[in-house]
Amino acid sequence: MSCVSCATLTPGLLDLDEARRRLLAAARPLVASETCPLDAALGRILAAPVHARLAMPGADNSAMDGYALRLVDLDTHPDGLPVIQRIPAGCAPAPLAEGSCARIFTGAPIPAGADCVIPQERCRLDARGRVHVHGEALPGANIRRRGEEYAEGAALLPVGQRLDAPALALLASQGIVEVEVAVHLRVALISTGDELVEPGTPLAQGQLYNSNRVMLRALLQQQGCEIVDLGIIADTASALREALSQARDCADVVICTGGVSAGEEDHVRPVLAELGELHFHGVAMKPGKPFAFGHLHRAGGDVPLLGLPGNPVASLVTWQVLGQAFVQACQGRRPRPLQRFPVKAGFSRRAPQGRCELLRVVLDCHEHEPVARLAGGQGSAMLGAACQADGYLMVPGDMPILEGNAYAFLPVAQFTV
Ligand code: AMP
Ligand code: MG
Repeated sequence: MSCVSCATLTPGLLDLDEARRRLLAAARPLVASETCPLDAALGRILAAPVHARLAMPGADNSAMDGYALRLVDLDTHPDGLPVIQRIPAGCAPAPLAEGSCARIFTGAPIPAGADCVIPQERCRLDARGRVHVHGEALPGANIRRRGEEYAEGAALLPVGQRLDAPALALLASQGIVEVEVAVHLRVALISTGDELVEPGTPLAQGQLYNSNRVMLRALLQQQGCEIVDLGIIADTASALREALSQARDCADVVICTGGVSAGEEDHVRPVLAELGELHFHGVAMKPGKPFAFGHLHRAGGDVPLLGLPGNPVASLVTWQVLGQAFVQACQGRRPRPLQRFPVKAGFSRRAPQGRCELLRVVLDCHEHEPVARLAGGQGSAMLGAACQADGYLMVPGDMPILEGNAYAFLPVAQFTV
């Protein structure tokens, strides 16, 4: 599903999907790695594949609380099977004597000779303590076989895997106590704008609190980046030159916000042209049109620069649909394609010309089918709707948005992993 067809693109603007492709093609994954204890590895990225040291499960075991028996004994012993063993999880059972059964619990090893576990709900103990079974009994029923999930040596997790809670659990299930992970990606963060002040300082006339800084710090932290925060930089070419040079010398990736449009207060593009190379500027999306991407020259390897727009929602959305995938690729991850699926609009509206719009929407799920409703004001500085949104309804440029028509919906939950 493309963002907009090329015919409707504003000249000079890149299609969103094309911008994403170019970013991913330019990303160079970090090569340095380090050993990390499993307990400290949440959110880290595997730098080496992990293979199974143990078969999983390690032994045939019971999937139920019940009775382990030989199926054939049910036919040959119609007066019931005596219970001659009790097998809780964690013990080593004796082989099952012919014509008997074993009380068994979930996760406990199957005794040699048993070929079936009958759940306790389907068993009756008679006055003599013998087990009678109701209903059908099938060979292998309720037995988890040794190695049915993984054989020893099987591939468990690939390079680039982000270690989330289930991945940590999988590693722990193999007895693994440390893993080889990529070193943290160092990202330098620059907030440009003469009007910006940090929260905690009184505002003078015309000033504005820096909201992009705390937002991008949070987003970068979520991705496990090490942040070099260079603070607020004045809107002069010399201040920006100095900041970008410093950023280039200490980081793997540089991200700046603001100053990336084409006005005379916007210094990112000219300074980037001096210190490196601009690859593209302008994406056919709303919010987020001024997004820019380039490299700062550095001996020993150029440093990529993502220029995000100053407006906070534009900064957020361009980070989510463009910047984050680039950063993940630099971390050695394989970013997932943008997740999008059709959802009906619960409103009508005019679309912008020549670029797609990503409307902040909430899903109304009261009917049998979800309907997207506007989450609030859609201005590119209006953070309120972004705080409430379940996702973005992506509508192609030049097209009136009609209530009841379906458009691509991008859930924001995809950007939190
Ligand atoms: P710019 O891209 O620099 O022209 O900025 C566009 C708009 O975003 C202006 O209204 C800026 O004041 C605002 N803006 C820029 N940077 C920030 C920031 N870090 N936090 C909040 N608003 C910002
Ligand atoms: Mg500015």
